[in-house]
Amino acid sequence: MREKVNQYIAKSKVVRSLRFRIFFIILLVGIVPTTILRYGILQNYEKRAVDVRISDVQTQFKILANHLITYNYLKDASSEVINAELDQLSNLYDGRVLIVDFNFNVIKDTYGISEGKTIISEEVIRCFKGESIANYDPVNQFIETTTPIMQVQEAGAEDEVDSTKGEVTVRAVMLTSVSTDSIAANISILSRRATIVQILMSIVIVGGAWGLSNILVEPFERVSSEISKVRDGFQNEPISVPDYLETEHIVTAFNELFGKMKVLDESRQEFVSNVSHELKTPITSMKVLADSLIAQEEAPLELYKEFMTDIADEIERENKVINDLLSLVKMDKTSMNLNIETIDINALCELILKRLRPIAKQRDIDVIFESKREVSGEVDEVKLTLAISNLVENAIKYNNDHGFVKVTLDADHQFFTIEVQDNGLGIPQESLEHIFERFYRVDKSHSREIGGTGLGLAITRSAILMHRGFIKVESEEGSGTTFFVKIPLTYVAK
Ligand code: ADP
Repeated sequence: MREKVNQYIAKSKVVRSLRFRIFFIILLVGIVPTTILRYGILQNYEKRAVDVRISDVQTQFKILANHLITYNYLKDASSEVINAELDQLSNLYDGRVLIVDFNFNVIKDTYGISEGKTIISEEVIRCFKGESIANYDPVNQFIETTTPIMQVQEAGAEDEVDSTKGEVTVRAVMLTSVSTDSIAANISILSRRATIVQILMSIVIVGGAWGLSNILVEPFERVSSEISKVRDGFQNEPISVPDYLETEHIVTAFNELFGKMKVLDESRQEFVSNVSHELKTPITSMKVLADSLIAQEEAPLELYKEFMTDIADEIERENKVINDLLSLVKMDKTSMNLNIETIDINALCELILKRLRPIAKQRDIDVIFESKREVSGEVDEVKLTLAISNLVENAIKYNNDHGFVKVTLDADHQFFTIEVQDNGLGIPQESLEHIFERFYRVDKSHSREIGGTGLGLAITRSAILMHRGFIKVESEEGSGTTFFVKIPLTYVAK
């Protein structure tokens, strides 16, 4: 049973192969027409040969029929000239001639068997009515013909059959059967030759089909071997097989995929090195601070306090980086299972601003909330709160003292939008496309000073994309920044 299954799989593999299919199609296209042609030619030859033979025989026997009348053979069958002519024709066509008179009596049989006997057949009766009939029997290989022997009634002549004068009447019927063995022999010779030609052609077609199918399939094999080289690490460059448009399409798609994977790999490596760097920086600072305290024999208490405060700050920072990293990782992991609920977005925004206002107040930054309508949407409350908090926090962090932050909420029948606007430092044009990248900071030292990790906007963007929303930014250095967030009111799981 198992063997049978394996055999079937092997067989279906062959049938599914492009090489086999091309081979098979060329074979069909080559061999079927030659077979049809051969059959057609032989058939046509046989029909044509039989037709020629019939017309030949009929002409000859018509002439003979006239001779019969001339020699008055029907009344006296002893004419040697006619008998010799009859024997000659029957020998020539390898056949038999019977002459049947008006009373259906056989008056002459070249085989000498049926003379004196009576023949009443449909053909004979029809022939007496003036019809000349020819039948071909392909099984027994003979042609049967009937030829009417006609005479014009002369005026005044006595006639025992018909008293009508000046009319053409059928006086007797000549029944002939001639062999078609010679036609069959010719067909057999022709058929043998055609078979030899066909076998030779088949050999050429099979060879051609095999060669052509190999040539046609070869570029596809090259595509797979080139891809294998990349997979096994022997090649790290885009591949090229431009033979066909189709192979070019496959290779282009592969190169695009390969490029994306390279970018992904590079960004993964960059992320790992960034993480290590970010985690190492506070530890290095702490080590320097601790070492310098240890190195001093009798350090004053104030110095201890100062250095310890710095160490505590670094621990705080390390903690923040770790927390942000965890949020980001969690965001990636749980992208499939959001905790979606219908939430009052107005209340959510109010709560975020309420939490952040004390921080803003320290620098006399005004935090304004403008709601254009009541909005409730299907969102993950925790993740959306994190995303919006990051935006508002940044708007406060990267603001000038006495500045303002304005949050505007609006909605249409499909989406709700949140706009976070500030009149702070702004972002340089060349940094705008990078600010959503992990660990990217416009001004590293300033961001570090005010406690930034470079992960906030990456977290925000992930959270918004998970809600099938999108985020964009507009900013002018020195004038301020506005972030636009747009999220569907109804969550659509993919
Ligand atoms: P960080 O933790 O450093 O704030 P983010 O990912 O939140 O990291 O932001 C990335 C960078 O984008 C910040 O370092 C800052 O330079 C810039 N940025 C973000 N929001 C604003 C803003 N409202 N105004 C000016 N610059 C901003």
